[in-house]
Amino acid sequence: MNRKKIAAANWKMNLSQDEGDQLIQDIIAGIPGNLACEVVIAPPAIYLTQMIKQLEGTDLQPAAQNCHPEVSGAFTGEISAAMFSRIGVKYCLVGHSERRQLFDESNQFIREKVDAILENQMIPVFCCGESLALRQRNEQNDFVRLQLEESLFHLEEEQIRKVVVAYEPIWAIGTGVTASPEQAQEMHAFIRLMLTGRYGQTTSDTIRILYGGSIKSDNASILFSQPDVDGGLVGGASLNASSFLSIIEAANT
Ligand code: PEP
Repeated sequence: MNRKKIAAANWKMNLSQDEGDQLIQDIIAGIPGNLACEVVIAPPAIYLTQMIKQLEGTDLQPAAQNCHPEVSGAFTGEISAAMFSRIGVKYCLVGHSERRQLFDESNQFIREKVDAILENQMIPVFCCGESLALRQRNEQNDFVRLQLEESLFHLEEEQIRKVVVAYEPIWAIGTGVTASPEQAQEMHAFIRLMLTGRYGQTTSDTIRILYGGSIKSDNASILFSQPDVDGGLVGGASLNASSFLSIIEAANT
C-alpha cells in the first residue's frame, strides 16, 4: 500500500521567535525539489501566525501542538481547535505523552479534542504509546489498544481516514533511546490490525502511522523503511535544520 509519508516536527516549548524564523527559512531553502512526503511543523502556538505567512507558497504545513475542544469560553490560557483552524492551521497534535503525563489528559478528554480537530477541518495527529514499566511487563499492546478504543474508535469510517496516528513509546521520547525497527514495526502492525478489526482492511490501509521517539538523521531511514511505518514525529532532531532535512529526505521515498 502506497501511503504518503509524513515528516512532522514538534518543537515543543523551544526556540525564540527569531530562531524559529531562521529554522523555517533554512528548512524551506533545503527542502528537496521532488518532495513526495508531507512536511508538518508544530511550533509553540504563539509563533503560528508568523509561521503561516512564512509557509505560504511552500509545501510545508503548519500544526498546533495542542488545542482545547470547546469553541470558546472561560478556559484561561487555552486555545480552541476552532481558533487554530481560523488562522490557517492544518494539523493538530493530540494526546502527546507530555500532555497526558504532565497535564493529566485522559483518553476521554483526548477523544473530545479529536472530535473538535476534525469538526474544524484539521487533521489530528493522535499520539499513543506505553511507558517503560508497561513494556517491561509486556503490557504495551493492551495499553495502546485502550488508547485507540477510548479516543478514536467512536469515529465514523470517513473520519478515521483523516486521522494520522503517531506511535510514541514514552521510554523513547527525548531519551536518546530509539525503538528498534523491529519493535516499531511490531507495534505499528498491531495498531493497523486494530484499525482493520474496527474499520476493515481498505480503510486501515489508508491510515498513516508515524513513529516518534528519538528519531535522528542516522536512524530515520531504517525506521521509515518498515512496511507499517509511514514517517515520523520528531522532537529534538527537528530543532536543527540539517538534521530535520535529512529526516525529510528519509521520508521522501
Ligand atoms: C516528541 O516529542 O514527539 C518526540 C518524539 O521527541 P524526541 O524526538 O525528542 O524523542
